[in-house]
Amino acid sequence: MNRILLTGGFGYIGSHTAAILSEINEEFMIFDDFSNCRENIVERLEKVIGKKISYVKGDIRDTSKLIKIIKNNKISSVLHFAALKSIQDSVNNPLKYYEVNVLGTISLLNAMQINGVKKFLFSSSASIYGEPKYLPIDENHPLMAINPYGETKLMIEKILRDLVKYDQNWSISCLRYFNPIGAHPSCLIGDDPISGKSQNLMPSLIDVAKGLKKNIDIYGNNYETKDGTGVRDYIHIMDLASAHVKALTHLKKSVGINIFNLGTGKGYSVMELIDTFENVTGIKISKKIIKRREGDVSSCYADPTKSNRVLEWKTKMDLNQMCSSAWKFSKNKN
Ligand code: NAD
Repeated sequence: MNRILLTGGFGYIGSHTAAILSEINEEFMIFDDFSNCRENIVERLEKVIGKKISYVKGDIRDTSKLIKIIKNNKISSVLHFAALKSIQDSVNNPLKYYEVNVLGTISLLNAMQINGVKKFLFSSSASIYGEPKYLPIDENHPLMAINPYGETKLMIEKILRDLVKYDQNWSISCLRYFNPIGAHPSCLIGDDPISGKSQNLMPSLIDVAKGLKKNIDIYGNNYETKDGTGVRDYIHIMDLASAHVKALTHLKKSVGINIFNLGTGKGYSVMELIDTFENVTGIKISKKIIKRREGDVSSCYADPTKSNRVLEWKTKMDLNQMCSSAWKFSKNKN
């Protein structure tokens, strides 16, 4: 039976996608170097799916290892999650980001090409839209990365465009994620990175709720939004993961390159997210307004019409479910 390869499949988005693939009995294997996941993720994910997981520990820059794995495991398509993803870290270490994200992806594509495997789902990011020119953002919105992380995603999308331009046997989808939060209903897997402190809002909220941090920093309350704080399109991780199954089905029957926004289409402000978190947890969050962060945009939310129509996919979960599942997972993991 043909198998799907998930690079970075033990990370946040990859592990939730693996759980959903398993529900529909898709055969998959994971390739991950464990640089941003804990060793016990294997055990936790196995509990979620109720069977052993086939996986290999390795770095996507190791082309010869990937060539063997793709050949020996009858891999038919690849879901490419593996990457470094911290914006701040990418500003401090741009070369590391170009090396892992861009060279790593080229290495993987080479290994696929050598084996004649040409079905590829790429984890792209809404960060490549830069400062929005209009809202909601559709897939035709101009692209402009404003940090090295976003630049790597943009470069990879360009490489993928060239790949399909000169070899029409490739079938590729770039999934531009908005802001995934929340966790699997089992509370066994969730957002659990190991590389330093996350600057994202939900992990910081959880730290404050657990008393690990005194207050939540709000970067600016003078944006032109309903309450002055930044507006983002938060999407439940289970909704995001389920889009990969739809994208995979679409990939099997299409050629060329397709771009899809994965967001809800709704924007919530930082303050609204904090209010919702307080309501579902019953914990009061102490807030501190500080100055705007460079590179932060005022509002950013998706127009998901194309994904809704072409992938026949729609988000189902609301902000309450995102906050409560993230909180339950954080309490359960220790
Ligand atoms: P994550 O860090 O939780 O998962 C990435 C996984 O890849 C980790 O398990 C890590 O160990 C592995 N990995 C990293 N470098 C590797 C390498 N060189 N070789 C093999 N494995 C490697 O990240 P995530 O949140 O699950 O994100 C998955 C993808 O989605 C990334 O490409 C990220 O850029 C993209 N993305 C994420 C978000 C988000 O908010 N989480 C938003 C937009 C795009």
